[in-house]
Amino acid sequence: MTKVNICRMAAAETPFAIMQTVNILLVEDEQAIADTLIYALGSEGFTVRHLCLGRQALAAHHASAFDLLILDVGLPDTTGFEVLKQWRADPLASEVPVIFLTARAEEIDRVLGLELGADDYVVKPFSPREVAARVRAILRRDARFRAPAAPLVEAQTVWRHDPEALRIAFHGQRLDLTRYEYLLLALLLSSPGRVFTREHIMDRVWANAPDTTDRSIDTHIKTLRAKLRSIDPASEPIQTHRGTGYSIAP
Ligand code: CA
Repeated sequence: MTKVNICRMAAAETPFAIMQTVNILLVEDEQAIADTLIYALGSEGFTVRHLCLGRQALAAHHASAFDLLILDVGLPDTTGFEVLKQWRADPLASEVPVIFLTARAEEIDRVLGLELGADDYVVKPFSPREVAARVRAILRRDARFRAPAAPLVEAQTVWRHDPEALRIAFHGQRLDLTRYEYLLLALLLSSPGRVFTREHIMDRVWANAPDTTDRSIDTHIKTLRAKLRSIDPASEPIQTHRGTGYSIAP
């Protein structure tokens, strides 16, 4: 791999191959950081395309062409948040997992990143191996990189869950869900009638965000209920079990 010291390199392809090619887009203006990440991810067998500017990423690439995005928050021309916002406007790209790199550890950044649908957050300085481990963790949860799971709640008429496409339909209408709303609803639907405790939900849905507070569950339940109500105002399929957790009506 050729090393360059200024951020001029448009793409860095790694020669490693794994069983299923995983294409990662890295947008990072600091070449030294990009180099260590390209090396660490390349050693794991991932193919990394590297760009330095937000506008290059938005102009030249369709986010849905990648399996995972790693976005620096502080880019010279824009912010990583803005890039993600524009990408997320495209429904095809709405499910591509994202890891933000940031020098600012403030809670507000974290909240903003997660609200925008980021999957993880790494604060500089970080170890490239740590980032590679987080990439692996995200891909492990991604249905496209797992062996096909048993079909879920296929027979039900109210719900239709397509775990391969990460889509859930309610009364025949596809729900427009954020990543965490999807994960939360998919968990409840995995066993209708079962009460999922708050701890269990935190472990399963926010596994990669250990600093997320309990409040996130309530916030996401609230937005989920609003989305379901907009389709069927009369039904209240998500049930609250005070002091315990939540379930979905069987
Ligand atoms: Ca930067």
